[in-house]
Amino acid sequence: MPIPDLRVNTDRLRADFDELSEIGATPNGGVNRLALSNEDLQARAWFAGKIDEAGFLVHDDEAGNLSGVLYCSNPTAKTLMLGSHLDSVPNGGKYDGAIGVLSALECLRVFKESGLDLPVHLEAISFTDEEGCWQGLFGSKALTGRLAPFSNVEKESSERAAFRAALYRAGIRPADVHRAKRSPNMIAGYLELHIEQGARLFKGNTSIGVVTGIVGRTTYQITFFGEASHSGTTAPEDRRDALLAASTFISEAHQTLAVDGGIFNCGNIKVMPGAFNVIPERAMLIVECRHPDERRLSQMEGEMVRLAQDCALKHNTTVSARHVLHMPAAKMSEMVMTSVEQACQSLNITSHTRLVSYAGHDAQMMSSITPSGMIFIPSYQGISHNPKEHSEWSDVVQGANVLLQAALRMAGIC
Ligand SMILES: [Zn+2]
Repeated sequence: MPIPDLRVNTDRLRADFDELSEIGATPNGGVNRLALSNEDLQARAWFAGKIDEAGFLVHDDEAGNLSGVLYCSNPTAKTLMLGSHLDSVPNGGKYDGAIGVLSALECLRVFKESGLDLPVHLEAISFTDEEGCWQGLFGSKALTGRLAPFSNVEKESSERAAFRAALYRAGIRPADVHRAKRSPNMIAGYLELHIEQGARLFKGNTSIGVVTGIVGRTTYQITFFGEASHSGTTAPEDRRDALLAASTFISEAHQTLAVDGGIFNCGNIKVMPGAFNVIPERAMLIVECRHPDERRLSQMEGEMVRLAQDCALKHNTTVSARHVLHMPAAKMSEMVMTSVEQACQSLNITSHTRLVSYAGHDAQMMSSITPSGMIFIPSYQGISHNPKEHSEWSDVVQGANVLLQAALRMAGIC
């Protein structure tokens, strides 16, 4: 069957984007829509209204994931899911997540207006707390059955009482969250439009990024132990400076680990006792490794721990490394990537490239249960998680049309 020559309604998409950008708007042009905050709840209510207004079923699952569904005539058909997230980081940008959700809804409207009877149901979904205000990828983890047990949130004495309270306030019962899990057999695939959040497309003057995989990441707490003593009277050979060992480690880790697709970051450091005239006894770091290849990621972790031990020894200190978090690398589906590239071809977009995402996304979770993919559009100067985050409107529209055309191919209309 020939592929219908459908396009999104640019004015309608723009009107939605402008309305949504007002919810949680900050004076400097960004948005503050932390997951489960008043602003996030307001955005969700607005989105539910838009779904209803367009004549789709509003679906709100036990983890707070909010969707609009366009049913096809076959009740036993699978569901093709399109979406992203409405929440933001503190003082974030208005494109991150929002364009994926709004474009997904716009695709559903266009399909409905076309009168096509697709072989799949179509769902436009906004996932809860993608950004990790409380727990990163919360909604997509729940939907894919990958959420860790919730017992610590349920206990009255839990230190995460605020999270529990926020869930209840949003109408999400912690004990029911696991019920948001869907059967992979009922899902035909998942596709997400998103800003790149890096500068590769912008610098390369490339219109569309076809995501091949999402980087895996591990977080460690690395603590160097030295000995506190007088900063003036302790001879150089007697000093056991934990911060000196830690800073040597940070500097060398950046040089030796950030190669061959690997990324290293030390984002937090605490020094004890923290006085100007005392040699630091303890330096506690929170570090992160990222790599698109899971095997290389675990090699990186081994190299990082060995390097920490070498640096500790060099400065007459000791070190401990505690593993805190592991988010496995995810591969996007070849079928989805091909659909996106064919969509680009049909829209005469010659400038597209395959690339890895160095940021986490809901597609990472979705890829564990269904063929998944992502479409990236350029971020101005690669800036994101910042009110200055910007994408050209023509790129947003182009991305939305690629989403629409790729969805048609994933749905099997060819
Ligand atoms: Zn995002």
